[in-house]
Amino acid sequence: MKKINIAIDGFSGCGKSSTAKAVARVLDYKFIDTGAMYRAVTLYFLRNKVDLNDPAQVVDALSEITIDFRPNKELGKSETFLNQQNVEEEIRKMYVSEMVSPVSAIKAVRVAMVAQQQEMGKDRGVVMDGRDIASVVFPDAELKVFMKASDEARAKRRLKELEEKGERVSLDEIARNFRERDEQDSTRKESPLIQVPEAVVIDTSDLEFEDQVQKVLALAQERMTE
Ligand code: C5P
Repeated sequence: MKKINIAIDGFSGCGKSSTAKAVARVLDYKFIDTGAMYRAVTLYFLRNKVDLNDPAQVVDALSEITIDFRPNKELGKSETFLNQQNVEEEIRKMYVSEMVSPVSAIKAVRVAMVAQQQEMGKDRGVVMDGRDIASVVFPDAELKVFMKASDEARAKRRLKELEEKGERVSLDEIARNFRERDEQDSTRKESPLIQVPEAVVIDTSDLEFEDQVQKVLALAQERMTE
């Protein structure tokens, strides 16, 4: 069977990463959460007080950043490392979510991340989720999925996730953060979030998690045997 690349794009909180992760596990493919990469850069910028409006500071900071994903066998998932430090939990926190869209809108940041993402997927066999995967990172991906979900479904799911991790945050705060990020991610100049015409749209508002995974797997099987 042919090895393919699967691109999953969409708005914040539609279940892209969890679906991509499950699909990759079944296919024994690599799962790349590109949002985690932009979050790790944001965390570095926040920690080092990088001025987003100073191109020299941004370029300097980018040259100091190494991001990689390492499997955690106990938890059965891969975790994000920033300069050899496990930042998986930290990058999901609200203060990082609040700053990630402005950081991701910077051209130099995107150029650096896209180059790494293309390298990770050059041999195919990758499930990658983000905002610009089908449009910029892998315009030649054999399967392109665009995920969406109602505002209510997205916010409720994320609230549950954050509560399970012990973060105290309200439904309103989450909904507002999604709204703001969606707006910034879709209207930015550099590779905005778009739905490419050939993408298969999956609305996850009323889907059980297992069903959304099965839908993507069925589409992948088709592409792998084409
Ligand atoms: O996927 P997640 O919601 O974790 O992504 C966090 C943020 O990273 C997005 O709101 C967006 O600003 C940025 N991002 C991006 N391009 C990607 C993936 C994420 O700009 N491919």
